[in-house]
Amino acid sequence: MMQAMILDASGQQLRLADVPVPAPQPGQVLIRVHTCGICRTDLHIVDGELADPKLPLIPGHQIVGTVMQFGDRVEPFPQNGDETFSIGTRVGVPWLGHTCNHCRYCQTGRENLCDEARFTGYQINGGYAEYAVADQRFCFPIPAGYPDLQAAPLLCAGLIGYRALKLAGEAERVGFYGFGAAAHILIQVARYQGRQVFVFTRPTDAESQRFARQLGAVWVGSSTELPPEPLDAAIIFAPIGSLVPAALRAVAKGGIVVCAGIHMSDIPAFPYEILWGERVLRSVANLTRQDGAEFLALAPKIPIQTQVQSFPLSAANEALESLRIGNIQGAAVLAVSQDDTA
Ligand SMILES: [Zn+2]
Ligand SMILES: [Zn+2]
Repeated sequence: MMQAMILDASGQQLRLADVPVPAPQPGQVLIRVHTCGICRTDLHIVDGELADPKLPLIPGHQIVGTVMQFGDRVEPFPQNGDETFSIGTRVGVPWLGHTCNHCRYCQTGRENLCDEARFTGYQINGGYAEYAVADQRFCFPIPAGYPDLQAAPLLCAGLIGYRALKLAGEAERVGFYGFGAAAHILIQVARYQGRQVFVFTRPTDAESQRFARQLGAVWVGSSTELPPEPLDAAIIFAPIGSLVPAALRAVAKGGIVVCAGIHMSDIPAFPYEILWGERVLRSVANLTRQDGAEFLALAPKIPIQTQVQSFPLSAANEALESLRIGNIQGAAVLAVSQDDTA
């Protein structure tokens, strides 16, 4: 048996329960969970803002753990060259948990949009538990040198944030709206790439503003302000629709506004003139395994350092609540079992 935090129905607290350790199916690995990052998406799932989660559900899609056992007939691991996992390999399990491999998206390098994609901690049980199973083709080796706690936020905040930054193109001046788990990682990538980062937070959030300055933002202000100079791109991390027109007003002609979250409150109507001038508004959805391989290769070169606040598995509800009210600097991570490999 293992301990797990279980969502029985949307809008309820998670329930700590003893449940059977899952058995790996063909192609899957059984993973002993060391840490599991907490993502805003988990909050959207728990709150019922994303449709039709598997229920009951073990949430969590930023899993770091060690391979304990294989299901039958595990194929080699195509996206990482010759790399295959062994018992004891430390792996990460991200949000993308399954793709069909044959739809037009999968066939054209856009598996993040797969028609039949399934997601960890949403349609597949995730990492708010002592053990998890995952399709090994969607797991990543964790770069050596990253402790389990620090590695967990790389797997979604880092990885999907990295995709959002790529979609911002060659922008030299980039605005971040919201400064949580993803932004505190992405500012390190952006600076490494020679970009200038402008950070917008809630007007009263002095803590986040201080944190952003400390990580090298060239300008920090309130989301109600305009930046001192027009931006080339902006990434909206906060799930607040009114930030869309605010960001469109902050970017120059040809600027790109990327919505990085899976859910957002309604976007208010705005005048066409703030989109005019070939400004682009787009979302970012999920990840491809290519994004993951690129980002996890880049992270130790920078090297990205994540700031985490850890909680025991049984305190997942408290951790989610801290995230909800904006009480986390950096990323919240569940510390599930002994960190014995890093
Ligand atoms: Zn597909
Ligand atoms: Zn996530």
